[in-house]
Amino acid sequence: MKFIKNAKIILKDRIVEGKALAYDEKISGVVSVDSIPADAEVIDAKGAYVAPGFIDIHIHGYLGEDASDGKAEGIRKMAEGIVKNGVTGWLPTTMTVSVAELTKAFDTIGALKEESKSWNGAAILGVNAEGPYINASKKGAQAEEHILTPTADFFKKYGDLIKIATMAPEQDTDFAAIRELKAETGILISMGHTGATFEQAMEAIANGVGHVTHLFNAQTPLTHRAPGVVGAALTADVSVELICDTFHIHSGLFSLIAKVKGDKLCLITDCTRAGGMPDGEYDLGGQKFYLNGIKCLLEDGTIAGSVLKLNDAVRNVLANTDLPLYEVVNAASLNPATAIGVADKKGSIEIGKDADLVIFDENINIHKTIIGGTVRYEA
Ligand SMILES: [Zn+2]
Repeated sequence: MKFIKNAKIILKDRIVEGKALAYDEKISGVVSVDSIPADAEVIDAKGAYVAPGFIDIHIHGYLGEDASDGKAEGIRKMAEGIVKNGVTGWLPTTMTVSVAELTKAFDTIGALKEESKSWNGAAILGVNAEGPYINASKKGAQAEEHILTPTADFFKKYGDLIKIATMAPEQDTDFAAIRELKAETGILISMGHTGATFEQAMEAIANGVGHVTHLFNAQTPLTHRAPGVVGAALTADVSVELICDTFHIHSGLFSLIAKVKGDKLCLITDCTRAGGMPDGEYDLGGQKFYLNGIKCLLEDGTIAGSVLKLNDAVRNVLANTDLPLYEVVNAASLNPATAIGVADKKGSIEIGKDADLVIFDENINIHKTIIGGTVRYEA
């Protein structure tokens, strides 16, 4: 048995002090400090927080690499990079590229999934397929030439690997692909890069859509006469992603969205290969883009993903809302774990769940990241 002492332990509904966290590969419980055996392996958190590890369900790239490249070394490098941001589990996220490239990317990521449980980086929990079944009018930085009309066949072949699939439901005649995927796979179907009206979006939800890709970005906005996809996302019982870098979404909205969505709010990064890299020129699904500070823009000024780190997203939400720390942490751990169906094993500090933990200070600077009870990063 291992222990973490002198930590403020972030549970899903409160923060506990003056106790120790006991774990092996799984969490054994919050125990009295006196019960730690003299010869036990103990981490002294020195007053820092210990939280469930962060789970990034929408991240394309990091450190110059991109999940759509289909390169095992790239995926490994990304995993080793984001573990330093407190991420213990992630969904490498593909973009709208060709079916051949997607096939290669899915095969590469799928082949690494088992190994990733014990490697020195964040564990692969599956894939997020963002496209190719999107609406060209809301393509954002996705490559138009690779956009396809929705069909279930291709994603069904990867039904065990894909955890989230982004689609524009108005492109799916009679919601046939959505209904088929919902009935035959465990894939969470997400509306995104969509020009759906409020009515179409609500109907799509009734037919199986359960999630909304980066709320507000690349979808019909909320206005009082046309509530759009945003209006449907806030009305219906679906989970939503939010890119809290303060650039994609005005920080003044964080509080409102958290109030409306509660435990259905998932913080994501939507990070590109420019994440963790210096300002300059990069490539996104075959298109050039430029990084300047926290802004990634295509040549024409279109926003092209982010360079956000998930611990920075937690800090940004904390700084711009009155939410308690445990609720903000939930939005980066338990809520995404619930959305992709792994909350029985991950996402919160509860007895029997995997010991995926992160130790950080008041400023959400990461001190240690622990996966399956093993320290995988130490600052
Ligand atoms: Zn994305």
